[in-house]
Amino acid sequence: MRKKIVAGNWKMNKSLEEALSLTSEVVNMVRDEVRGDVEVVLCTPYIYLPVLQKYVQEVDRISLGAQNCHHKASGAFTGEISASMLSAIEVPYVIIGHSERRQYFGETDALIAQKVKIALENGLKPIFCCGELLEQRQNEDFIAIVKDQITAALFDLSAEDFGKVVIAYEPVWAIGTGLTASSAQAQEMHAALRAHVAEKFGAQVADDTTILYGGSCNEKNADELFACPDVDGGLIGGASLKSREFTNIIKSRM
Ligand code: 13P
Repeated sequence: MRKKIVAGNWKMNKSLEEALSLTSEVVNMVRDEVRGDVEVVLCTPYIYLPVLQKYVQEVDRISLGAQNCHHKASGAFTGEISASMLSAIEVPYVIIGHSERRQYFGETDALIAQKVKIALENGLKPIFCCGELLEQRQNEDFIAIVKDQITAALFDLSAEDFGKVVIAYEPVWAIGTGLTASSAQAQEMHAALRAHVAEKFGAQVADDTTILYGGSCNEKNADELFACPDVDGGLIGGASLKSREFTNIIKSRM
């Protein structure tokens, strides 16, 4: 049985004070209100991770994630954070290949593949992001484009390592725009990606792969998106910055 996950990607938001109150509110609401087997991941700015660790330890189903890591083990890379540093502070998840990293920081499929590898070598679980641009959806075989992103970053892994990866499908045109993919569009892509994984790693591995949807997911549309058979939860941006709304999303039926 694959895991259901709702992850919040805070991006570069929240003061330290706001981060502490948002986290303690989410922890309390999840503890009091959330039943079932959904796992919650808070992907916060790096510097808050050690501070927030003791808050999330109160509730088993909540853990932390970073939003990025460097592709090399260590060295003269001023300003960067390594996978082993995250692992040392017991952060279990790391987002890799987010479209904002691809777009604003020039991350390529090849670089992202290295990041996935080093994250796994350090015991981290990558949340690997993929998704097509608006012009790709309009003009090209957009499903093939997203499959190719998965092939490039993940298909050199062993089946065992691949099994530790969470995939997040985030159509770039839906991120921060209010233009959510319809549940039919999400289901179509998620089913195609699962079939693609099955071709490479077999039906069992594909069936066990968690595939999240991200892109303007909110408390109003989460129910419908998460009800799709191949949507196993969400990677939430803006709506993860509000404790009530984020908890409502976590409570959506899956
Ligand atoms: P929004 O939910 O703000 O559209 O962002 C989605 C996202 O990029 C999550 O990683």
